Amino acid sequence: MKILCIGRNYVDHARELDNPVPEKPVFFLKPDTSLIVNNKPFFYPDFSSNIHHEVEIVIRINRPGRNIDQRFAHRYYDEITAGIDFTARDLQDRCKEKGLPWEISKAFDNAAPLGRFVKISETGDPGNISIRLDINGKIVQEGSSSQMIFSFDQIISYISQFITLKIGDLIFTGTPAGVGPVSIGDRLQAWLNDEMLLDFYVK
Ligand code: MG
Repeated sequence: MKILCIGRNYVDHARELDNPVPEKPVFFLKPDTSLIVNNKPFFYPDFSSNIHHEVEIVIRINRPGRNIDQRFAHRYYDEITAGIDFTARDLQDRCKEKGLPWEISKAFDNAAPLGRFVKISETGDPGNISIRLDINGKIVQEGSSSQMIFSFDQIISYISQFITLKIGDLIFTGTPAGVGPVSIGDRLQAWLNDEMLLDFYVK
């Protein structure tokens, strides 16, 4: 199982980090050791002092495929949830300055808390799913898949030109604006539409 993540998929978020709006999807990978499931806590790592939350819609691949045509991409996922693409922003900034890969800031242990999956047939139109992150009961990020630069289907089609997708692979589809730091003691709750799917503490 692999975790694929899309960067800069919402215009407002690309702008808040001073990144150009991409012409093609930008993606990177996290290993399976990044996953946190069942609302287990995230332990703040000692190698960073600026861990940022990025709440994202996550889809799960349900059949293998490569070179998937965009028209058929919707057949390759039927479950969806919210996840956090935790990012050590201080380490990432150093990588970016030097033009180095970002893995150290994105792929560390527990950098991918994952919510409970629901069927896409229950959430309705995949092109219009709202996503939200609350920290300690206050809304910090809010968006909708309708604001994504690249749709789920475009992402699947693009990635599968380079990497074969397998059952169980996860795709984090990018974060809306409003990313920021988390602190020890914070409670993070992520929602798709009006359903809370992820609820955990930073320890
Ligand atoms: Mg992200």
